[in-house]
Amino acid sequence: MANIKTMLTTFLVGNDGTAIQSPQPLLMVLKTLRKASRRLSRKKKGSNGRKKARLALARLHRRVANIRRDWQFKIALELARTLDVTCIEDLSLAGMKALWGRKVSDLAWSNFVKILAWQCKKHGSTLVKVDRFFPSYKLCSQCGHVNEQLELKDRQWVCLSCGARHDRDKTAAVNIKREGLRLLALEHEAGCRLMEKAA
Ligand SMILES: [Zn+2]
Repeated sequence: MANIKTMLTTFLVGNDGTAIQSPQPLLMVLKTLRKASRRLSRKKKGSNGRKKARLALARLHRRVANIRRDWQFKIALELARTLDVTCIEDLSLAGMKALWGRKVSDLAWSNFVKILAWQCKKHGSTLVKVDRFFPSYKLCSQCGHVNEQLELKDRQWVCLSCGARHDRDKTAAVNIKREGLRLLALEHEAGCRLMEKAA
């Protein structure tokens, strides 16, 4: 059992604190891509150099997409094979924006959730998606107090209500697990009621 959470270079954090980092090759290509993008912006409009720079950038985008997809398939397969239940936050760009008031590039996350759903189905593992507006980061896992002052840069925080110390990502993962299991229990109950009705 684990729940996972997206971060920037840390891709996933489980409720036991284990983290899966984004792969080095991906981070390196992303760095090259940023450089190529800057190079393109410096080229004169309509010039041959600009055309070349644009092609180079498109090639890099394809490379990023390929590396990312392969890696996401691998991680999703590992999770689907080893876990009976995975609780995951269903993030979206809009959700991250609402949560933090800023745009976080996380299209890759929604792709990963899709791949994970596919792998879980294939390997008979249960995937529970927790609503993207559930305040996983800001919720104290000890007392339930919501820390509205928490900002994206705060990796550690102390609950003003009960004094508990939190690692942001780990606490979020604990909250997502709890919420996911609650949703799963509700679903199970509803399923049982339906079966009773049918009987
Ligand atoms: Zn608290």
